[in-house]
Amino acid sequence: MSATHTAGAHLLGNYARAPVTFVSGEGCELIDADGRRYLDFVAGIAVCALGHAHPEIAKAVARQASTLVQCSNYYGHEPAGRLADKLCEITGFDRAFFCNSGSEANEAAIKLARKRAFRRGESRAEIVACSGSFHGRTLGALAATDNARYQEGFAPLPLGFRFTPFNDVERLARAVTEKTAALLIEPIQGESGIHPADADFLQAARAACDAAGALLIFDEIQCGTGRTGRFFAFEHANVRPDVVTLAKALANGLPIGAMLVAEHVADALQPGDHGTTFGGSPIPCAAALRHLELRESLRLDDHVRRMGALLSAALTRLYERFPDAISMPRGMGLMQGVTVDSGIEIAAIVDAMRERGVLVICAGRNSLRFVPPLLVQPEHVQTLERAMEDVLGEIQAPRS
Ligand code: PLP
Repeated sequence: MSATHTAGAHLLGNYARAPVTFVSGEGCELIDADGRRYLDFVAGIAVCALGHAHPEIAKAVARQASTLVQCSNYYGHEPAGRLADKLCEITGFDRAFFCNSGSEANEAAIKLARKRAFRRGESRAEIVACSGSFHGRTLGALAATDNARYQEGFAPLPLGFRFTPFNDVERLARAVTEKTAALLIEPIQGESGIHPADADFLQAARAACDAAGALLIFDEIQCGTGRTGRFFAFEHANVRPDVVTLAKALANGLPIGAMLVAEHVADALQPGDHGTTFGGSPIPCAAALRHLELRESLRLDDHVRRMGALLSAALTRLYERFPDAISMPRGMGLMQGVTVDSGIEIAAIVDAMRERGVLVICAGRNSLRFVPPLLVQPEHVQTLERAMEDVLGEIQAPRS
């Protein structure tokens, strides 16, 4: 097999895959079929927090695989129970629901919000989301996603979804009404290009929901689980939602989604109201639990804050050298992005970086996104900066 072989002639063509086939990973690197190593600033798109093939995660998975793999959610099992306990202890939420992905976590949150209103005899079914949002590809999550390209051709989408402009406090107060079941916000919009919500926008969201009796749901699927140097990105704004959704990094690469809820909304979903066959099965839960233990012992939040500052400084230096090519960086911790000038083909940057052995990925139409493993080291940031400097230098002469 050669590295130029893109695995799977029989795979459905719904991804524009890069011409590389990875066979293994180690720490912050991926290794292709020809044995070539790539520094990974994608991490499965903000997934592999502890990097690839972490020995402790591998051990936890192997131990669980040889103990209990599946037993249906009609029975209890230790990994899900212990993971729920651990998440509630760390976050201050009261109940956890587990599923397999971010989209499913958002579906659960949307259903919980509507069912809560129904149980209270209220006719409020509307879900308000933000301009530029991305909440997933299932039909409900897609209806909450403000992206015409992703929605095109899939009509009819579920009804009852509206959008309010992101970071517009004034419009927010008018958008949330007695018809609103929930307001759904990404504290840092990821897919649309790494756009952090302003603290006063998130605080206004809390106030608007309280005033209207609606639920506040934060989607921390990409920005949560420590990516910004705190467990949740919303902690930076000193505000708390009623419901939060997680996925991506939670099990360090194994498929899991989670919805965490405060006690006062927990009884909205009763037995039979919602469910999943595989959600919260023992192996992903065991991996997530080990991940959460390790992030504490490694003091990962401190490390992310330090590495985030280095990454931001490196991207700022690149902006200062190439102000006509990229913007100043946006983001927090190890979730950063820059806008690429409209005259430059962004895919050409991604390809040229990969040819130099560094993986980066686009976000939105015109941004580059940097979401490395949270264990990234200073020398990795230097390697990224040098590669970006070469690539931008080839595309555009730096300003002297
Ligand atoms: N919500 C956010 C903020 C995301 O970034 C994503 C995925 O990128 C999703 C939801 C959907 O998650 P999944 O792809 O696991 O369904």
